Amino acid sequence: MAEDLTTDDMVVLLERLSRLVRAHEHASDLNPAQWEALRYLSRCNRFSNSPAALTRYLSATKGTISQTLIALERKGLVSKAPRPGQARSVVLALTDDGEAKLRDDPWQQVSAMIEAGGAKTRKRLANGSQKLVAKIIKSRGLPSFGSCDTCRYFREGGAPDDVKGKHWCLLFEEPVTKTQARKICASHDTA
Ligand code: SF4
Repeated sequence: MAEDLTTDDMVVLLERLSRLVRAHEHASDLNPAQWEALRYLSRCNRFSNSPAALTRYLSATKGTISQTLIALERKGLVSKAPRPGQARSVVLALTDDGEAKLRDDPWQQVSAMIEAGGAKTRKRLANGSQKLVAKIIKSRGLPSFGSCDTCRYFREGGAPDDVKGKHWCLLFEEPVTKTQARKICASHDTA
């Protein structure tokens, strides 16, 4: 019975889940770091689509990320372009093939199973996993990579007449669209 599981039992299950997905990743034509980079680029906002932000998000080394991006570029899944107005900075983006590749993401199977579990299961898992991840991040002093709605720099509806977005980021002094506000940000600072 699930109620009889000890905390250690739950940790074993989490470890097993992670191992099963990792095995699935290894069995594909991308390695785990390449999958993680694709996922990150599909979730990050326009201020965070850089190699440096990806390196921080994955707590990886510069060398690992550089090799990962070279491989993804070679496979036609990621593109690099100069960041407008910042000669030494690079904008990373998923190509159409990169977007399509994410439909084969091994975590999609887990996502579909959670979805099939119903609203109650989803809510419990969401609450528990969100709190757990937040505690681990805080205890290690890692960047939060949250979204605008929980950031101290966010002003909802702060740019009502701006065609580039109705919300406002005080840090970047730029408008933010509703879609961008839901994405993760390398500069997020919990409100
Ligand atoms: S409001 Fe915060 S999370 Fe949103 S773009 Fe600005 S710094 Fe990033």
